[in-house]
Amino acid sequence: MNSATPVLSIPPKRHSHLKDLDYSVVQQCMHCGLCLPTCPTYDATKLERNSPRGRIALMRAIADERLEPTKTFGDEMYFCLGCLACMTACPAGVNYAELFEHARAEAEQSGQLDNPKRSLIRAVTLRWLFMDMARLQLVGMAIRFYQQLGLQTLLRKSGILRLLPKRLGELEAMTPTIQPKFTNELVEPVTQPSTQKKYRVAMLTGCAQDLMFSDVNRDTVEVLARNGCEVVTPPEQNCCGSLHAHNGEWELAQGLARKNIDQFPPEQFDAIITNAAGCGSHLKHYAKLLADDPAYQKRAHLWDEKVKDIHEWLAQIGIQPPANKNLPAQNVTYHEACHLCHGQKITAQPRQLLKAIPNLKLTELPESTWCCGSAGIYNLIQPKMANELLDRKLEHIKSTKCEVVATGNPGCLAHMTNGARKQNLPLRMVHPITLLAEAYRKNS
Ligand code: SF4
Ligand code: SF4
Repeated sequence: MNSATPVLSIPPKRHSHLKDLDYSVVQQCMHCGLCLPTCPTYDATKLERNSPRGRIALMRAIADERLEPTKTFGDEMYFCLGCLACMTACPAGVNYAELFEHARAEAEQSGQLDNPKRSLIRAVTLRWLFMDMARLQLVGMAIRFYQQLGLQTLLRKSGILRLLPKRLGELEAMTPTIQPKFTNELVEPVTQPSTQKKYRVAMLTGCAQDLMFSDVNRDTVEVLARNGCEVVTPPEQNCCGSLHAHNGEWELAQGLARKNIDQFPPEQFDAIITNAAGCGSHLKHYAKLLADDPAYQKRAHLWDEKVKDIHEWLAQIGIQPPANKNLPAQNVTYHEACHLCHGQKITAQPRQLLKAIPNLKLTELPESTWCCGSAGIYNLIQPKMANELLDRKLEHIKSTKCEVVATGNPGCLAHMTNGARKQNLPLRMVHPITLLAEAYRKNS
């Protein structure tokens, strides 16, 4: 061959999240449709493409190279709530969680959804803010300052928000209330058990949980200590990476998983505790996330075994009942966070915890496992659907006539609290662990 002849250049094969996924996962769906009635987006539109079956068909078409990832495909993947109700309904055991994460990563990799505004928001939030908890706390402090000075109340009462574009006003109304103190100001790095020591556990404080519900972290540590656990809560922690994995940032999620395994060596603890359903559902799958990393594989498997949602762990070790049997009566209903009931199949344990509290009457919530619309950042990117689901949830809550709503996920708590505030509903939204911690405190 003449050296001047151009060599046929073959473009490097593009890495594809869906094509590289184990084909047994891609082809599990047998198209029976049993998941359709449980899917909130299908319920809203009755369109096949907005159903689990329709979405899986799109994913498979890409894996089979019959379809390129298009903008429509990307939009569809972001219209899905990731609530995983379809996984609970599916008789074939389709692993929709895995498909969904890979499909969103595929959509991101294709660049079909890119535009300057979206890229900037993603760079600031996923690549900068949620990669370092110190930065997140700084932003939290700024919002706290704005709220504590009364500027937020002033702005809301002034009517200025009505002059701004509608979406900006809606976003302002969703600003979470930042706690007066973060977890590292409320909880010691090591908390000794208040009864005989039986276990040594690590406590994951989360990112949203730390900003909005550090009191729930404090209550969790207190309850663990009352149940014979020594609790290790390092003041500086990392995000679990669920936000990144659910939004197509696979490599960032892997990096965070490695950092967490290094910070909390699983062989040193009886359990690694989370009280946020969304985090727990992701944290239990680090072995899958790091499947291609031989340096972390073994420890990631052990990590997955050790991660426990707080309700799950307490049910496993047995809940110390509160001593005071004369606690004030309270009527409580329970909303099941999707990533607790569908993602982790934890349904009985939270009810068990609530029933251990004297004089607490638990009333079952109709459609308790139906998504409230929070779904990570879904309420920010798909406000219409998120608000429809929120209204539906609040109607069911009202029908119970309960004054307290318990739920085990910060996103649900914040989203439902905003909804109740908008409708002036006198409801207390609370994590179940807080109700138990309060019951213990009233012992003395
Ligand atoms: S995750 Fe939820 S919204 Fe998405 S397909 Fe499954 S049931 Fe529907
Ligand atoms: S995901 Fe499961 S329930 Fe839904 S159509 Fe496929 S096999 Fe049936």
